[in-house]
Amino acid sequence: MSDESAEFTRRKFLGAGSAAMLAVATAGVAAAQQEEKKVPRSPDHHLPNETDPGPKNAAIEAENPSAVWGVDTDAGQVPPFKYPFAMARKRLESGGWTRQVTVRELPISKSIAGVEMRLTAGGVRELHWHVSSEWAIMLYGKARITAVDAQGKGFVSDVGEGDLWLFPPGVPHSIQGLGPDGARFLLVFDDGNFNEFETFLLTDWLTHTPREVLAKNFAVPGATFERVPKKELFIFQTGLPGELKQEQAQVAEGTSGAPARMDFKTSTMKPTKATRGGEVKIIDAKNFPITTIASAIVTLKPGGLRELHWHPNADEWQYFIGGKGRMTVFVAGGHARTMDMEEGDVGYVLQSNPHYIENTGNTDLVFLEMFRTPHYQDISLAEWLAHTPALLVDQHLNVGEQMLKAIPKEESLNLPL
Ligand code: MN
Ligand code: MN
Repeated sequence: MSDESAEFTRRKFLGAGSAAMLAVATAGVAAAQQEEKKVPRSPDHHLPNETDPGPKNAAIEAENPSAVWGVDTDAGQVPPFKYPFAMARKRLESGGWTRQVTVRELPISKSIAGVEMRLTAGGVRELHWHVSSEWAIMLYGKARITAVDAQGKGFVSDVGEGDLWLFPPGVPHSIQGLGPDGARFLLVFDDGNFNEFETFLLTDWLTHTPREVLAKNFAVPGATFERVPKKELFIFQTGLPGELKQEQAQVAEGTSGAPARMDFKTSTMKPTKATRGGEVKIIDAKNFPITTIASAIVTLKPGGLRELHWHPNADEWQYFIGGKGRMTVFVAGGHARTMDMEEGDVGYVLQSNPHYIENTGNTDLVFLEMFRTPHYQDISLAEWLAHTPALLVDQHLNVGEQMLKAIPKEESLNLPL
């Protein structure tokens, strides 16, 4: 664009400015008013304007009562912040299967991606590495994990239900299902754009390296590599591993083993906080020094509430292990949305957006809160108000200073106390 035409465009824009801007502003106000206008509702939704002759997806609606008849306090167009793993494509291999929920499935989830994986007894997730950190929790069965750290020191361990592991970025590793029935686990990566199907695989790399270079690298004849698979193994069936102590001794030969543990036995840890409403275990760099990903494992009793709070230092990625709940996220500007969550769902809350999670089912609600930061942080509504002058808060809320002074001085995480 020439300077002259740029100037013309600028003038035209400025000239049309006031009228256009007034129109936009008026439309904005009209839209907001329309959106917020409260229309009477009936408790059983029988009014003529509440009926729905269909078509409708009855199964999805039954799982999402807060979407069918939104909570009265919801407002505005807040994009969805959940994605069920049940909708992700399963890749089936001889030794198990896997599926993933990334930013490509759930656009809001920019900082973290998740992968579900099942390995048979003997099934191996091929030796590989990736740019992201890998955090994991075992949800069923047992597995053998191996890794070699940046100092070239080996690590081998067996993990069972509830145990975690953390492979730092670029550290090569493997996972293998053990007897009697293999393993099922969740992997969490500190990059929403992560792709489990594009990791650096041992066989894939060697297949794409000239054989004479491999021969020179190991000082052996080229024919040694004749039987290296031509296609990636990814997840494959093979025999069970050797005895744990023997494998640990073998990988430590000449160097001693990796000094930092890459696994964490959650079962040996006391809850960080327990109330009548439930309990929380917080695992971050304080008690699991190698981790670059902070986590909270929350169990909420029926009717329990993960109290109103937000996280000042990171987005929150959630995975629901069991039970039913609902979460409202307030995104400022008068906009809020409530969604229902259940087993196998991924949820996501942006940094500093306030939220709560309520157990709406009749069994325990168990879920993970995951953060792309080594240090867990939250601020609760209760602790904020408890440590602000009561007079000032009451001038905002008119709830009475007595109520404010009675708020517990330490956050509870889960309610009731
Ligand atoms: Mn991995
Ligand atoms: Mn939270």
